[in-house]
Amino acid sequence: MRSNLFRQRLDVFTMWSTAVRTVSTRLSEDLYRKYRQFYLVTDIRQMVIGLAVIGLVTAVFYYSDYLLFGFSGLFYLLLALRLILVAATATVIVLLLKAVTRPAAFDLVVLAYGICVVCICIYIGWTRPGSYVQYVALDVAIVAAIYLFFTCRRLIKTALALLLTVGDLIIIGLLKDPVGIVVWNVTLISFLLANVIGLLFALRIEAFRRRRFLDILDEENMRNELVRMASIDELTGIWNRRKFLDLAENEAERYTRYQRPYSLMMIDLDFFKTVNDRFGHLSGDTALRQFAEIVRGQIRGMDIFGRLGGEEFGIVLPETGIQEALALGERICKTLYSTDIKISDGRSVRITSSIGLAEACPAYKTLDDVISAADTALYRAKEKGRNCMEVATGEAAQAQLDM
Ligand code: GH3
Ligand code: MG
Ligand code: MG
Repeated sequence: MRSNLFRQRLDVFTMWSTAVRTVSTRLSEDLYRKYRQFYLVTDIRQMVIGLAVIGLVTAVFYYSDYLLFGFSGLFYLLLALRLILVAATATVIVLLLKAVTRPAAFDLVVLAYGICVVCICIYIGWTRPGSYVQYVALDVAIVAAIYLFFTCRRLIKTALALLLTVGDLIIIGLLKDPVGIVVWNVTLISFLLANVIGLLFALRIEAFRRRRFLDILDEENMRNELVRMASIDELTGIWNRRKFLDLAENEAERYTRYQRPYSLMMIDLDFFKTVNDRFGHLSGDTALRQFAEIVRGQIRGMDIFGRLGGEEFGIVLPETGIQEALALGERICKTLYSTDIKISDGRSVRITSSIGLAEACPAYKTLDDVISAADTALYRAKEKGRNCMEVATGEAAQAQLDM
């Protein structure tokens, strides 16, 4: 039965992830933020490579300026601009690698740098003579590079690429000597293709990355669910035996290392077999769930409450001595006794419990010692007539050890 439930849960996860993948790779704002953060380091690395290439290419083209203008005032102005761009590129690389930790900051830096690069490119284009329109080939390549290498928000890279395109087209079409219809057409189509192909490529890469991100998220969710299912008792929702003993062991260790006190309570429902026999097993299950709810209402968040098996439960009470544990045990017994447990068909039943209590002490050092002391006390409570509590006295055990 439990393994069926387990399989059903896994099925729900698989269905959910498939649906998300087939419907779209659109992400909610919250998921988008996580997606960007997830890829931030990769994005910064890729952007740095793009920046290094831009810086290098910009520097190298000073030679074209020299061939076009010689050692003129314009040449020195362009040289200064190119040097500024190289310095800006180096600064941005350092900034991205050392200081940027959030996608929003990354986008802002790329946007500022991108506007700077695009404006300089447009200005350089404006300085070129009408007879040397071939330079636009480089700007077309830059447009494609923006789509491929700029790993910022899609809107930003599209805006930068369009700014460069429109700027160049205005300069070629309006400000320069007429370039002729053929050159104009080729330029227009080149920019158009660079934008369309660049954008499509960017979209495909992004869709792939988003799908991969969703897959990773699915895996992580499934892993978390598996871990949770391995620790939780399916019927009552409290810790199962394994997890309870794990957590209890931590408390036992804290006691051994730092002498931090803790108490342990074993609870067994009285004559529970009769509940099943009279009302059926499903009603018995309902009663077990309600019992767990009642106890949950009495304990603190830090207490460790688990189902050890059947109708037997355990509570580890960290930082708690036997007196406080006794008070809690009494509260549980009283509340349980005075509560109508609703079972099927509007009927209700009253159940009681027997409790065995033990506190870690020199006589009960290990967790096994404490559990077996609480168990023995529980056995005594059953023998005494049930619906009561018995305490394992470490002192008595110590006396026995001394004998
Ligand atoms: P005692 O007061 O001596 O503890 O009597 P008891 O009837 O509670 O003790 P016993 O150990 O004889 O029976 C325990 C019963 O708990 C047997 C079983 O039917 C029932 N039980 C154990 N696990 C479950 C469960 O998951 N669901 C239901 N409904 N019943 C369970
Ligand atoms: Mg019982
Ligand atoms: Mg039992």
